[in-house]
Amino acid sequence: PLLKPVDAALRERAARVIPGGMYGHLNVTLLPASYPQYYRSGDGARLTDVDGNEYIDFMCGFGPMISGYKNPVVEAAAAAQLAEGDALGGPTPRMVELAELLVDTVGPADWAMFGKNGTDATSLAVTIARAATGKRKILKGTTAYHGANAWFNPNPLGSTPEDRANIIYFEFNDITSLEAAAAEAGDDLAGIIVSPFKHDGPADDQRLADVEFARAVRAIADRNSAVLIMDEVRTGFRLVTGSAWEPLGVAPDLIAYSKAIANGYALSAVVGIDSLAQAASDIYATGSFWYSGVAMAAAIANIGLLRETDTPAYMDHVGTLFRTGLQAQAEENGFEIVQSGPAVMPYLRFVGDTDYATALAFSGAAAARGVLLHPVHNWFLSTAHTEADIAEALERTADAFAETRSVIG
Ligand code: PMP
Repeated sequence: PLLKPVDAALRERAARVIPGGMYGHLNVTLLPASYPQYYRSGDGARLTDVDGNEYIDFMCGFGPMISGYKNPVVEAAAAAQLAEGDALGGPTPRMVELAELLVDTVGPADWAMFGKNGTDATSLAVTIARAATGKRKILKGTTAYHGANAWFNPNPLGSTPEDRANIIYFEFNDITSLEAAAAEAGDDLAGIIVSPFKHDGPADDQRLADVEFARAVRAIADRNSAVLIMDEVRTGFRLVTGSAWEPLGVAPDLIAYSKAIANGYALSAVVGIDSLAQAASDIYATGSFWYSGVAMAAAIANIGLLRETDTPAYMDHVGTLFRTGLQAQAEENGFEIVQSGPAVMPYLRFVGDTDYATALAFSGAAAARGVLLHPVHNWFLSTAHTEADIAEALERTADAFAETRSVIG
C-alpha cells in the first residue's frame, strides 16, 4: 500500500480542530484506508496527494473539474482577473460578459444570476419559483439530492419538520407518482425540481429520463402554472453544452448550475426564462462573494473551451472506453456488475453487494494502485482524460479486480 505519513499527521491535527476530523461529502473516513484525505496538486486528469502519490482521477472533485486540473486557458483568465482584483466594491465587467455567454449557450436562458455553491443556485431557483407564483409547494424526487439547505438536506438533523412542510415527493420516471404529488399540492404548486437523470445513489442504479416522463414534468408544471426547475448542478456541461433535456425537446423554466461551470473555481448560476426575470429581481438574493470576478473570468474561459468542440461526445467516448474495459475485467474475475447512467458520469454497482463490501474492496484496491474511483457515488469524466489515461487506469483496475476477487472470495 502507498505510504501516507503526511496525510496521517494532518488527520491527527484535524481531529483536534475540525469537527469529526472532516465533514461532508469529501470526508474519507468511511472509505478504505488507501484513500488520501489531503491533496497537494492537480494536473490534467491527475492528482497528487500530500505525500506525493499520484492518481488518475475519476472523481473530478465530485464534479467541478471538467477541463483538466490547472487548465492553462482557464488559469490564465483567472490569473489575469486576479491581477486586477477579485472581490472589489462591486462586480467586474466579467459578470455581464458571463451572463451574456450563458444566455447565448443555454437555449431556454434569457437571463442569469450568480452564487457560489450548488445549494445557492437550487435555493435561489425555489425562491424565485415561489415568488413568481405566490405558491408554496415544491415537488422533489424522494431520494434526489438538491443541496444541503433545510428544505433538501437528506439528513434532517438540525432542521425542523416545518422547513420541509412544503416539499412533496415523487419517484423519478414514475408519472403516476408525479401526478399524485401534484394532486397533493393542489392549487399551491409553485414548482417541480428535477435532475436530468436519476443519480441518487448509492442503492439505486442511475436512470436516464424517459421522454414521456420529461414531457409529463413539463405538462404538469404548465397545467398548474408552476415552474419547472432543472437541477444541472452535477450534470451541467457534461451531458449537453446547454440544457440537458434539449435532445428530448423539453425546456425548463429555471436551470441551476455549479460544479463544472468554472472548472473548479467557486461559482454557481441560475438561468431562467424572461417571464421569471421580474420575480428573480424582486427577491432578496445576495452573498459577500457572489460578485467576485475571478471565478467569473474562469467560467467565461471554461465555457469558451467547452463550446469549441463537442465536449460531451468526447467525454462519452473516453467514458465508454473505460466502461467497456471495466465490464470485461469484471467478467474475467467472475463479478456481475451493473454500470448505469451516461458514460460521462458512470456508476458501477456489484450485483448482490448489499453491504457494499465488494465496492469498498474494489475502490480501495484501485486507490492503492493510483486510480481514484468511489464505491457509492457516481464518477466523472473530463475533457482532460485521454485514451492513454484510460488505458493506464484499466491496467491498474485489472489488478484491483483480481485483488478484490482474492479478498472477497
Ligand atoms: N444538486 C445536485 C444535483 C448536486 O449534485 C449537488 C452537489 N453534490 C448540489 C445540488 C449542491 O451543490 P453544492 O454542494 O455545491 O451546494
